Amino acid sequence: MNTKDVNATSSDTTKPNIAFIGLGNMGAPMAENLLKAGYTLSVYDLSEDATQRLQQAGASVADSPKDAANNAQVVISMLPAGKHVHSVYLGDSGLLANLPKGTLVIDSSTIAAADARTVAEAASELGIDFLDAPVSGGTGGAIAGSLTFIVGGSADAFAKAEPILAVMGKNIFHAGDHGAGQVAKICNNMLLGILMAGTAEAINLGVKNGLDPKVLSDIMLQSSGRNWTLEVYNPYPQVMENVPSSNGYQGGFMSKLMQKDLNLAMQTAQDTNVETPMGAKATELYEAHTVENGDRDFSSIMGRHDASLLS
Ligand code: NAD
Repeated sequence: MNTKDVNATSSDTTKPNIAFIGLGNMGAPMAENLLKAGYTLSVYDLSEDATQRLQQAGASVADSPKDAANNAQVVISMLPAGKHVHSVYLGDSGLLANLPKGTLVIDSSTIAAADARTVAEAASELGIDFLDAPVSGGTGGAIAGSLTFIVGGSADAFAKAEPILAVMGKNIFHAGDHGAGQVAKICNNMLLGILMAGTAEAINLGVKNGLDPKVLSDIMLQSSGRNWTLEVYNPYPQVMENVPSSNGYQGGFMSKLMQKDLNLAMQTAQDTNVETPMGAKATELYEAHTVENGDRDFSSIMGRHDASLLS
């Protein structure tokens, strides 16, 4: 049982010290926004490139999650998948066993609700508040500080987290108890996978019938096919500036992460006996696509219809 008190303070005593773990496409800009807002950050990532970027932005770099959390009242993690979250937090050498009582832990990774509940239970036994707080809004939202946070956990912990999340996001929802944030998130991402695959299919149908992809996108954007991918994340190269499709499908939200989320949705549907035929089709399409394109942004599903777009 950990009995160390939380009594270290940031240079600004109204702001807790924060440990930030996982500085990838999403975590790095989220952490940078916290620094800009005056929070003191200690960061950790397996990749040195990732930590260097944050060091330049003013964070101190730690050698392990435990070192990062030394003197932190709040821990935030943004890791790829459930297995990474488990390895960081659980077990005798995991972070939870080394945190003071009363620490607030916010995990923003997208993972299975069951995995989030396992970590939440272990945290609660140690007197630590855990929130699952996955996000929506992509890397653009992470950079702009306009993410949507979808939070599961106690109302008290949510109230403590809200001002910190408000630095990185615009819309902050309390979805319910532990795991509820993750359930809402995979419902959203299943729909996003369906919309992205469907939008790519529609644009391809138009292009193969002689339409300009930008003209067609503008038409659908002002018609009933309008959706988020057409608004801010068009999958066809050069229709929109500053989106992964206009940058060789680099950066953004990797196809393998979309496939992970679709698999989480399918697993949840199966466990709870819910039919999701459109989700199943999107999962099948992304499964085939990620064999060769797992590291490309998920809008590269456009290349299913025209491989030259991926070269
Ligand atoms: P990413 O792969 O770019 O970043 C993950 C980072 O975690 C990497 O820098 C990696 O080195 C680090 N990491 C892995 N294991 C670690 C460990 N044990 N300790 C410390 N660091 C470790 O992924 P991302 O795009 O930033 O996504 C992170 C999470 O956010 C995922 O769960 C993803 O599904 C979710 N998400 C991503 C987006 C998006 O647009 N990219 C949008 C919403 C949600």
